[in-house]
Amino acid sequence: MPFPSRARRLFQETVAFLEESAHWDRMSIIRWQEERLGSLLAMAAKKVPYYRRLFADSGIRADEVTLKTMRNIPFLTREIVEQQFDRLVAEGTPNRQKEYFTTGGSTGVPLRFYVDFSRTNTLREAFFHRMWGWVGYKPWERGAILRGIPIDSDNPDAYFDYDVLSNKLLLSSYHIRPDWLHRLYTILVEFAPRSLQAYPSAATPLAQHIVDEKLPPIPSLRLILCGSENIYQWQREIIEEAFHCRVFSWYGHSENVLLAGECEKGHAYHAFSEHGVLELIRPDGSVIEGPGEVGEIVGTGFINDIMPFIRYRTGDQASYAKGDCACGRPYPRLERIDGRLQELIVTSDGRYISMTAINMHTDIFNQVRQFQFEQSEKGRLIMHIVRKPSFSDADKQKILQVLHTKMGKAMDITIDFVEHIKPTQRGKHRFLLQHLPVKFSD
Ligand SMILES: [Zn+2]
Repeated sequence: MPFPSRARRLFQETVAFLEESAHWDRMSIIRWQEERLGSLLAMAAKKVPYYRRLFADSGIRADEVTLKTMRNIPFLTREIVEQQFDRLVAEGTPNRQKEYFTTGGSTGVPLRFYVDFSRTNTLREAFFHRMWGWVGYKPWERGAILRGIPIDSDNPDAYFDYDVLSNKLLLSSYHIRPDWLHRLYTILVEFAPRSLQAYPSAATPLAQHIVDEKLPPIPSLRLILCGSENIYQWQREIIEEAFHCRVFSWYGHSENVLLAGECEKGHAYHAFSEHGVLELIRPDGSVIEGPGEVGEIVGTGFINDIMPFIRYRTGDQASYAKGDCACGRPYPRLERIDGRLQELIVTSDGRYISMTAINMHTDIFNQVRQFQFEQSEKGRLIMHIVRKPSFSDADKQKILQVLHTKMGKAMDITIDFVEHIKPTQRGKHRFLLQHLPVKFSD
């Protein structure tokens, strides 16, 4: 089989390149980006029917585009990807090179696309290797993974598995239930992982259990790597309190346009310039240059040339961080990556409230095991709650009071008690099921 060794070589070459480019100065990384952008656009103009037409219609000459003038290229949206699916694939791509993906069916517009089977995943792994290397992660060390690994069974003994090759304990995030949390804790103590990779929504109930039961932290654990979902500040606080070690979070998505992560020195997310071009835009489509202003994240990806996403609107929001990171690496930094658009609540007067505004890490929620908001109508919100046995009517009143203070009078809130909150198909836990079409801008 020639493929594995080719992939290994690509991985090693990419890691070597990334180790070096992390030490470049900002000008060098911008020059590299401009060159890479040039070759991507030239390829798209030549091989991708959608872009060939788009560039011709909007008078864009692919060979002359710079990081500044790329702003004339119209945005790519989920809707366009869906409508123009076939025309976005590079002509002449052999079928065996196409790996099919779909995401985000639960809310909004589902998305389907191809990635380059022989390159995209390998390049992505190289980026993770570097990012996690900065914070002390060693791939061969004992680690636990609490993510949507489909260990599909009703038998509790099948909720976890050990992967010999990677030396990782795989834990199902589909079975985060009260009766399972303590078992999960004891399994982790016994396995003694040095790192824990987790969805924030799966690590949070475990952390809450450790705090509630006053259990000691897992002694072997040194770092927690969180991603694939928003991590709210209140979640970070409770996870760090329970495990006595730092959470390092990353931002990315399966569309593979951008990847950004925290380094060992700071809490802002370095957006890796070798992975793609980052832009933040205002609702009117203009580009944000300076720190502080929140805008939608737009990305042009460099690791998937068979179906290139150029100026793709992610629907996520962030702002640029102020100043420079103590690590000195040359990448733009994001902070306040939050309010994925489907995580906004809509008031009766049409205002948006981000889920990040609701701090669940207060004693008001002590008697709550799990919760989920659901909205189908402007100004109306249902909060589903899995109670602890000690939950009382006074707790309910306190929660309603706090939510009303945060959201104002323009919100009618109902509490609904449930036995269990179902995870998504990928084993994540959504804090908000938003059935309304929420749009940041058009
Ligand atoms: Zn840094």
